[in-house]
Amino acid sequence: GIDNLSDLEKMAVLGHGTGGTVYKVLHKKTSSIYALKVLRFNQNTISICRQAAREAEILKRVDSQYIIRCHAVFDNGFIDTDNGGGDLCFVMEYMEGGSLHDVLRARQRLPEHVISGVARRVLEGLHYLHSMQIVHRDIKPSNLLVNDKGEVKIADFGVSHIVAGTREACHDSNMGTCAYMSPERFDPERWGGDNANGFAGDVWSLGVVVLECYVGHFPLIGPAQKPDWATLMCAICFGEMPEIPETASPEFRSFIRWCLEKDWRKRGTVGELLGHAFVNRKC
Ligand code: ATP
Ligand code: MG
Repeated sequence: GIDNLSDLEKMAVLGHGTGGTVYKVLHKKTSSIYALKVLRFNQNTISICRQAAREAEILKRVDSQYIIRCHAVFDNGFIDTDNGGGDLCFVMEYMEGGSLHDVLRARQRLPEHVISGVARRVLEGLHYLHSMQIVHRDIKPSNLLVNDKGEVKIADFGVSHIVAGTREACHDSNMGTCAYMSPERFDPERWGGDNANGFAGDVWSLGVVVLECYVGHFPLIGPAQKPDWATLMCAICFGEMPEIPETASPEFRSFIRWCLEKDWRKRGTVGELLGHAFVNRKC
């Protein structure tokens, strides 16, 4: 196991997110490579981070081939007294291929058979999380990571949604998270109903992601539109079903439509979607 942060040597920066930085690190004792996510916090965000630390305990119990493994969590909480802050470090499985966001930036769009495989794996991962009564809440291309075998896994459950918050978090610095939110999360009064437990929100986000993989840009607003709060709110809560290109197969179109039902009661559940023809192809 990894029992000391000082056993890890930083090799490179893999990326920056809302709350911190992800590094590629070498575990010197075993020569293994990991990803180290460092979330910094200060006096204003310390309670949020304590909550994240508690959730991290759950993260360590998650054990699925479809979810990024978290090997250790270090809470350097209250050491850095100069600024009243500190950090929370997650040692995670390193994913050589980066995120689906990186893949899309490099390749623009993905062929349907690849998207089918991505959707299948994300559904398997969500099925596992939902069976543990965990809602991910932040399914988006940058939280879907790819390893050297081309396998996609879900990252950042229980971390980003706490750090990024929910509705309050819809400000310019993380429109990225809001863009994939379901109507019932954006506008619970109109779309939520009494029983929205959040599971259906993950399915909506997956629908947006798979369509984005096919068309090559965020699909709910025009490429020239500014993705600010009001524009996203209009598109998500009141917009028509986005146009799906004619080239998409009937199964793919039906899968996307089922994920992007505005009324979460009519949306497919993860269990139902796992039985859909789009993710059960023999090729
Ligand atoms: P947000 O803070 O809203 O979640 P984000 O997902 O882009 O945004 P991070 O989770 O901090 O932010 O990740 C930043 C980047 O680091 C990712 O986009 C990805 O390219 C890279 N990354 C994160 N985790 C890993 C990992 N386990 N292996 C390889 N690369 C990773
Ligand atoms: Mg992330």
